[in-house]
Amino acid sequence: MEDSYRHKGMRRLLAKKLAEKGIQDAQVLEAIAQVPRHIFLDPAFVEQAYQDKAFPIGEGQTISQPYTVAVQSQLLEIKKGDKVLEIGTGSGYQACVLHFLGAKVYTIEYNKALFLKTSRLLKSLGYSMQFYHGDGSQGWPSFAPYDKIIVTAGAPSVPHKLMEQLAPKGILVIPVGDGAKQCMLKIVRHENGTFTKEEFGDFRFVPLLGKDGWPRA
Ligand code: SAM
Repeated sequence: MEDSYRHKGMRRLLAKKLAEKGIQDAQVLEAIAQVPRHIFLDPAFVEQAYQDKAFPIGEGQTISQPYTVAVQSQLLEIKKGDKVLEIGTGSGYQACVLHFLGAKVYTIEYNKALFLKTSRLLKSLGYSMQFYHGDGSQGWPSFAPYDKIIVTAGAPSVPHKLMEQLAPKGILVIPVGDGAKQCMLKIVRHENGTFTKEEFGDFRFVPLLGKDGWPRA
């Protein structure tokens, strides 16, 4: 799909808006300004791609709001070469933002149709990352430990398997709460094996399903 000067201009404006909303990490703002969000949406919705809104991507799922993507990416403090596990590939946009930030991305999607669609799209665009179809509430043990883990669906509680798969000094960013709203948590695993938790406000995500998620409706 075409990436025109108009698209690039709209992305710059979106990054400016996110800076005004409090995003301070210059690399994250640059990722928002560079990753073409419109390619992750149906061509009919190109105009909506650069609004700061979540958007349906089919299968009852959404591409997260750019502000939410920026908050989660900023909390992860990505360094070049970090091994990052994403739970909830969805459209693939967040995965591409992580890739832009220099992460080695491992991403899991539970919905088969979305997994097939997004893994094909990103491979066709030349993105090198690892895709897995399965229950991300159990992590991806074969490649653990991860420097960073990001969950992009609302969890009822913090899955133990994700904490276990975090490397020393690792960071897990996960929204936890009920169906109506979830609090964004940043959990750090210290070198002595202890964990600390900080809260970063309320958000609204589609539910994390699976063994340590919510039961299917
Ligand atoms: N990161 C996505 C993006 O950039 O478009 C947005 C993700 S969407 C808000 C949440 C995704 O999590 C949905 O695609 C949903 O199917 C997926 N999901 C829900 N439960 C899951 C689980 N247990 N494991 C993996 N993916 C899951």
